[in-house]
Formats: sequence, structure tokens, C-alpha cells
Amino acid sequence: MQELINAQREFFNTNTTKELRFRIEQLNKLYYLLKDNEKLLFEAIYKDFKKSEFDTYISELALVYYDIKHAKRNLYKWARREKVSTNLLNFPAKSYVLKEPLGVCLVIGAWNYPYQLSLAPAIAALAAGNTVVLKPSELPGATSRIMAKLINATFNPNIFKVVEGGVEETTALLEQNFDKIFFTGSTKVGKIVYQAAAKHLTPVTLELGGKSPAFVTKDCNLPMTVKRLVWAKFLNAGQTCIAPDYVMVEQSINQKFLEALEAEIKKEQFSIANHNYVQIINDTNFERLAKMIDPSKVFYGGKTDAYKKYIEPTILQNATFKDTAMQEEIFGPILPILTYTNIDEAITEVKKYPKPLSAYIFTSSSHTREKVLQELSFGGGAVNDAVMHITNPKMPFGGVGASGIGSYHGKAGFDCFSHAKSILDKATWLEFPLKYFPHSKSRLKWIKRMMKLQ
Ligand code: NAD
Repeated sequence: MQELINAQREFFNTNTTKELRFRIEQLNKLYYLLKDNEKLLFEAIYKDFKKSEFDTYISELALVYYDIKHAKRNLYKWARREKVSTNLLNFPAKSYVLKEPLGVCLVIGAWNYPYQLSLAPAIAALAAGNTVVLKPSELPGATSRIMAKLINATFNPNIFKVVEGGVEETTALLEQNFDKIFFTGSTKVGKIVYQAAAKHLTPVTLELGGKSPAFVTKDCNLPMTVKRLVWAKFLNAGQTCIAPDYVMVEQSINQKFLEALEAEIKKEQFSIANHNYVQIINDTNFERLAKMIDPSKVFYGGKTDAYKKYIEPTILQNATFKDTAMQEEIFGPILPILTYTNIDEAITEVKKYPKPLSAYIFTSSSHTREKVLQELSFGGGAVNDAVMHITNPKMPFGGVGASGIGSYHGKAGFDCFSHAKSILDKATWLEFPLKYFPHSKSRLKWIKRMMKLQ
């Protein structure tokens, strides 16, 4: 590890990565590497958790390709020095902000979207002119192996290197002195990463999880609400960090809403046999999820198959904040439905949880929409939709509080791997003597005037 980081730092210090053309070359190399090996990528992810080509394309590769194109298209704009006006006190001078790459970056990925969550931060880091050590999650073994095999055979390891492994290897990596650590995963491991980074004062971005609520009001467009909710929840069998974790529905439409959910799930025909539904990643998660299904509350679904690690899309009715499913992030195909009669009380209840990564509000009332958006703190979200906000690279993506620190995607990703270096570039042909000796009342008065303090 030490040797790898030293070699990357040495390469970084040659200033080669500061050339924008060089960065674009790296992005192109990655783009064609993935495109040319799409079949292998599809096979690996199917082996890991039976994810179909269609879902892998729309929820992983399409986003990665788009990220590369977006970064290439905007790189010159993002990287150019940003001129700002100079304050009167510094006249005559120019002021600007340089975008400086941070150096050697560590990216630690999560397992649930193994390509997108590993490669999107790596793309941002390379675009910003850094070198990258990528540690994908070890849980989907085949996807981790294929990324390591392809990237390590194609890239100079001093620029971009995949290191495979689990806790032991990640711990060893975290002991090294990186210039930036970008972590995607659980809040629990996020704290470990943050502590390790503190030893070297390494800046971190933490993309974590949480229980993301969806509010459904009686005046929502019900057919559209259930259509979008069902897709967002059961995509990847609920193993999505921004999936709606639970629903708070207005009591008066609860029954209608439950029935509409059931009809929509049936319409989508989620089943492993139909190749539109993935399995649970491992036995630990399967058992954790199976325990959340309280048979007395199952409105729809509830069937499980431990051998195939399959859990049917499951709707829990009459759910309460005391239920097992409400004690931690679900991260699986189980959707508890809670009811409310007063939106203020519903918001107060949700606020008792740590700040979630996302929140969704399905309503036609602008008043309720604004209330939720203004009163509840969360990473990001959507109105009358769920999950899809992640696809707009013009919006920073990240959590707040327990759901994360910092954000990325598009320009936010470039900035997250860059240092904003502020420069005052002063002319030498004039100097106001105000700050020098002898100090006097009139000089102080002039300083105040120039700073518009009087
Ligand atoms: P995880 O925290 O278990 O693992 C994430 C990474 O940390 C893996 O690469 C793993 O090898 C490593 N790791 C695990 N234990 C470690 C330890 N003790 N020391 C050092 N490294 C360790 O998370 P996960 O199970 O892969 O992902 C699920 C969680 O991630 C959920 O909470 C989910 O909400 C969150 N998540 C967040 C986002 C986001 O963008 N904010 C995206 C996906 C997942």
C-alpha cells in the first residue's frame, strides 16, 4: 500500500495530471474500456446478485457513461481560473481562484450499485486531476474482480489502481496518508473512515445512508404516485441508498393507497423468474431483512426464499415507529406504511430520526410541499417522484448530518476533488500607505470608509 501511494504521489508531483488533455485521455480510456467490455460487466453483476442487463444499464452504466461525457464536455469550464472582483482595500490588483487537484485520492465503494458507486467518484477525481486508488466493495465479488482486472490491465497504476479486499485491506489503506478519502457506505463504517482520516487531517466526503421517508397526501395524483413509488422502492430489490424507506400516507386515503400499491406491484411482475428483480446480496442481509417482516402486518408479499436469497416485494400496513422495520435503514424490498392525520405531527415524528439521505413528497398542494421542503432537513429528494433526482448531474448529490458529509456528481464532483486556491495578484505601481506606520485616526477612518464600515 505504502509503495503504491508513494508511486502515485511521485507521479502526481510530475504535474502530468494537471494537463487537461491528459485528464480527458484518462476519461476516454475508461469510457472505451467499459464500452468494449460491457458484456463482461453484465455477466459479473448477474453472477453477484442476478441484476438484469436492463437494470444494470439504466441504473449503473448509463450514469457512468453520462458522467464521463458530462465531465469531458465541461472540464475546461470547471477547471479554468475563476476571476472575482477585487475589494477596494487591495486596489490595484486582480483576484482569482485556481482549481487545484488534491493529489492521491482513495475511493471506497459500496456494494449495492458496484459500478456506479465506485466509478462515479473515480471519474470526478480523475477529471479534477488526481490519481486514484479505488477499493470496491468485496461483497459482490465478481464485479470487484472484473473492475480490478480491466482497470489494472489498462491504466498506469500510478494514475488509477484498483485494490480489492474487505475490512483488513481497507483498514490498511486507511492507515496511509491520502490527500482525499471518498467513502460510500454505512454510517457505522463512515465513522471509522472519518476517524482514520483525522489522523492525517485528510479531507473526506462521506456518502452514507439513513431512513428516507416518502410523504403521500390525500390530494396527490394517486396512480402516478404508486407507479413511481413502486419502481423506486423495488428497483434493485430495495437495495438503494435513496429508495423510499417507508411511507407516511394521509389516513383518509390509506386503504385506497394500499390497494393501488398492490395492483402496481402485480403489474410490474417483480420476480426473479422475470429478470426484473434482483436477489439480496448475502445471507446476513437476507436474515436481517426477513426478521423485519412481521406476519401480522403483511398487506402484500412477505414470501422469502433463503436458498435463492429472494424476498418478495412486501408491504407492511399499520406500521408504527416501534416496529423492527423502523429501527434501522431497511435497504431491502420491504415497505412499511404509516399513516398520519396532521402533516405537522408527521414531520415532527420523522424529525426524531437522524437526518435522512433523501425525502419525497407526493402532493398537489404547494403549501404541504413547501412545508416538508422547508421544515425537514435531508440530503436531497424529489417532489412527486423518488430516486430520479440522482440522475441530474447539475445537482450536487450527498447527505447531511448522519447521512453524509459533502456531495458530488457533475461540477460538485469536480469541486469535491479540488482545492479552491484563492490568489490576490497585486500590482506594484501603487501602494496606499494606510496600514503602515505611523497609525493615525485619519488613516483608520479611510480604512473604515474603504471597507464600507461607516
Ligand atoms: P459498508 O459500510 O458495510 O461498506 C462500505 C465499504 O466499507 C466497503 O468497501 C467495505 O469493504 C468497507 N468496510 C466495511 N467494514 C469496514 C471496516 N470495519 N473498516 C473499514 N472498511 C470497511 O456499506 P455497504 O453494506 O457496502 O452499503 C450499504 C450502506 O451504504 C447503506 O447504509 C446505504 O444507505 C449506504 N449507501 C450510501 C450511498 C450514498 O450514495 N450515499 C450509496 C450506496 C449505499
